[in-house]
Amino acid sequence: MYRIAVLPGDGIGVEIVPEAIKALMAVGKKCSHQYLFTEALIGGAAYDAVGHPLPEATLEICRQSDAVLLGAIGGPKWDDLPVHLRPEVGALLPLRKELGLYANLRPCILFPGLLQASTLKEEIITGVDLIVIRELTGGLYFGEKSREKTPDGGEKATDILSYSTYEIERIVRFAYNVARKRHRKLCSVDKANVLESSRLWRETVTRLASEYPEVETTHMYVDNCSMQLIRNPRQFDVIVTENMFGDILTDEASMLTGSIGMLPSASIGGQVGLYEPSHGSAPDIAGQKKANPLATILSAAMMLRYSFDLESEARLIEAAVRQVMEDGYRTPDLMEEGKTLVDTVQMGDLVQEVILKN
Ligand code: NAD
Repeated sequence: MYRIAVLPGDGIGVEIVPEAIKALMAVGKKCSHQYLFTEALIGGAAYDAVGHPLPEATLEICRQSDAVLLGAIGGPKWDDLPVHLRPEVGALLPLRKELGLYANLRPCILFPGLLQASTLKEEIITGVDLIVIRELTGGLYFGEKSREKTPDGGEKATDILSYSTYEIERIVRFAYNVARKRHRKLCSVDKANVLESSRLWRETVTRLASEYPEVETTHMYVDNCSMQLIRNPRQFDVIVTENMFGDILTDEASMLTGSIGMLPSASIGGQVGLYEPSHGSAPDIAGQKKANPLATILSAAMMLRYSFDLESEARLIEAAVRQVMEDGYRTPDLMEEGKTLVDTVQMGDLVQEVILKN
């Protein structure tokens, strides 16, 4: 019995999470696994219900579970709340910190059926298969923040970016271990020409590289990396980087897969892993059944792989997504001429059917 905390959240979160549960249930039925799903409030929905975006009851349910499935949080309705009550700052960051989720894995794989769906040229993206490993509990997002008045009547705002050797070593070693099991290429991304924290980052990676001689280590500045990702993405195998650079680069990398609705993520490092799509709550399409649930469904596959060690079950889901893409079904974000347009629920149904049939 796998205990899964289910946090749908806001916007399209409530539409995509049930589709991932359908995929998990289909795998469970086929492979005789049982789950205990416990739903809890998070984000704006939690603020509206109980006055806080991360209620203690939700945290407790997560701590008591084997894994957490999260949809997305935030939206314009909650944008003007005091910063500590805003869904992203008040819920997402403390949840990651509380569960000790220092490593965020974002695999970026182009399903062959989606070659035409990307805005990028086919010859550039064919065969893309990279993974970004983003440090998740340090850096600017967690640094001290302050505002002060200035003599000219304006204000000064400060966000502190700091990393310790321990934090860098932890994520870099994690990335090396991933690279060892893949194509043994690690690209560490920093801004060491400008930032002190990046200089420590680079020195640490350089020192650790000698412990992993079988892995080819390279360094790249983040601005160059953002260009190389769309110039020649196949040069990358594993990218390891700090929190904010990883946040930005993975949104860019999502376009290599056709849509941000295709990019899953796993956040691990503590006792309980957290699985969520890489995108946000998409308020512009919420409630219209237009959301692509595949990033969330693929995140559920990552849960099976990383939290439950069920590799072949994870592959069942990934193969089903591949099949549905090859059969030509598309949500609006991926729609091309000659394909069949489906809504969020229909896409979830199709994946479920293929899992049960294969
Ligand atoms: P977003 O990722 O929600 O949306 C960006 C664009 O991508 C939108 O046009 C949206 O329609 C589209 N999109 C996103 N997911 C999609 C899907 N599954 N299918 C089809 N199209 C999809 O980013 P944003 O607009 O910058 O942020 C909206 C809200 O989400 C904000 O409140 C933001 O803070 C929050 N957010 C939350 C998370 C999270 O919960 N982890 C992450 C990022 C942003």
